[in-house]
Amino acid sequence: MSLDRSTLFIGGEWVAPATDETFTVISPHTEEPIATVPAGSTADIDRAVAAAREAFDHGPWPRMTPQERIDVVARFSDLYAAKLGEAADLITAEMGSPAQFSQLAQSPAAWMALDAMINVARAYEWEATRPGSLGNPVVVRREPVGVVAAIPPWNVPHFTVMSKLAPALLAGCTIVVKPAPETPLSGAVLADLLTEAGVPAGVVSIIPGGREVGAHLVAHPGVDKVAFTGSTAAGRQIAAVCGQQLKRVSLELGGKSAAIVLDDADLDRTIEGLKFASLLNSGQACIAQTRILVSRARHDDFVEAFADAMGKMVVGDPADLATEIGPMVSQRQQQRVESYIGIGQSEGAKMVLGGEGRPTGLDRGWYVKPTLFAGVDNSMRIAQEEIFGPVLAVVPYDDPAEAVRIANDSPYGLGGSVWTSDPEQGLEVARQIRAGTVGVNQYMMDFAAPFGGFKDSGIGREFGPEGLDEYVEAKSMFPDVSGG
Ligand code: NAD
Repeated sequence: MSLDRSTLFIGGEWVAPATDETFTVISPHTEEPIATVPAGSTADIDRAVAAAREAFDHGPWPRMTPQERIDVVARFSDLYAAKLGEAADLITAEMGSPAQFSQLAQSPAAWMALDAMINVARAYEWEATRPGSLGNPVVVRREPVGVVAAIPPWNVPHFTVMSKLAPALLAGCTIVVKPAPETPLSGAVLADLLTEAGVPAGVVSIIPGGREVGAHLVAHPGVDKVAFTGSTAAGRQIAAVCGQQLKRVSLELGGKSAAIVLDDADLDRTIEGLKFASLLNSGQACIAQTRILVSRARHDDFVEAFADAMGKMVVGDPADLATEIGPMVSQRQQQRVESYIGIGQSEGAKMVLGGEGRPTGLDRGWYVKPTLFAGVDNSMRIAQEEIFGPVLAVVPYDDPAEAVRIANDSPYGLGGSVWTSDPEQGLEVARQIRAGTVGVNQYMMDFAAPFGGFKDSGIGREFGPEGLDEYVEAKSMFPDVSGG
């Protein structure tokens, strides 16, 4: 079946693009083209924003009751549930996510997030009367923020669209989604489902495009709010534009999360947990636990056991369900990750596994060798900068207080974890970590809870009622209760 496309989903219809520019999607495994699709242009964005503006200012969607919108979004959720396998396969084909991760998380997590947001919307206080300070009642109402620009990255393309699309739709916003150029295929899957679910024309457009097209969308005067997931560098530029225009903005950015392994942690259980938490999606995950903090007393034993476990992980064809680490998304990303392997060596970290060059037997595809550095000083670039690949740093500490200090000595604050046989102690250490989400003996997201970053990891939250708050304006109304 050909994956080629010739049209874009603008304002609820599949239409011819404004230019004949295209993206060629290259398989990260074979380096062969798998599809050609239209590249959205600024003219396409203008059309989409005009449709979203019209649908917001005059259409039914923002004027429906929350329950009416919930019903439509719940239909969308049911339709998406039937496509989870297809969506996971497409994401594996276009960006190389190992099938075992795609089938566990790429589409299922997107669906769970959608369902969780529907539940949040059901319980949300859309309009409520409260006692005012002057003795009269006050009506507080949550209204949709307006036209939303949603800009996701390529690493979890459905999940990062859904985390914006779901709250925006439920709040009554209209949305222009701009998928990353690396993942233009998976976004299109959602379009037909939205129409089938009954989302009115104009409410959603999906236009894959590059940076300039994204920047045009961000700065567009017809957009009221920008919801962005991606690099901290791009997040700063977007925040600057939104600041200038006083546009609402939420940013989910990079991470360099620390896993603190306390001395009482069970080694086997910790290593099993960290293999997933540190290397999920081939390490191309913002929440990956990429700095592993281990006491000096246990450092060498831990490193030996972790290197052994990491060295046994299956690297190869992402479509094979046995594969645990697949290729990087692109040649550029492969080169970037390899450059950090070189940087780690030149900084004097001890490389105990991996190194530059291709894994054995993989002569094609954008693969890197899973690489483990030990004895890392937290000031090294491999401990401070986000690598976004299967390259981990083990950092020794002297005592738990120093472990917390090292964990917090980072420009980022997205995630973290504590590994211990004492769950109470784990929670106590978790309280001291300056990050938006912290797990004890695990790293999991829970879509009923707010997710987001401290410091350079972002502004705002996704999921939970806090995630819906980002898509509404609070309006207070003062009714006349004088009786006359
Ligand atoms: P990126 O910042 O290069 O691009 C992300 C998206 O923004 C793409 O769609 C891109 O086309 C667009 N874009 C880039 N510059 C833009 C600009 N100036 N204006 C408007 N749009 C712009 O990031 P990436 O390489 O695609 O993704 C990897 C990054 O995403 C990592 O830093 C990772 O940590 C982060 N990420 C964060 C989360 C989170 O929830 N915090 C989740 C996934 C990924």
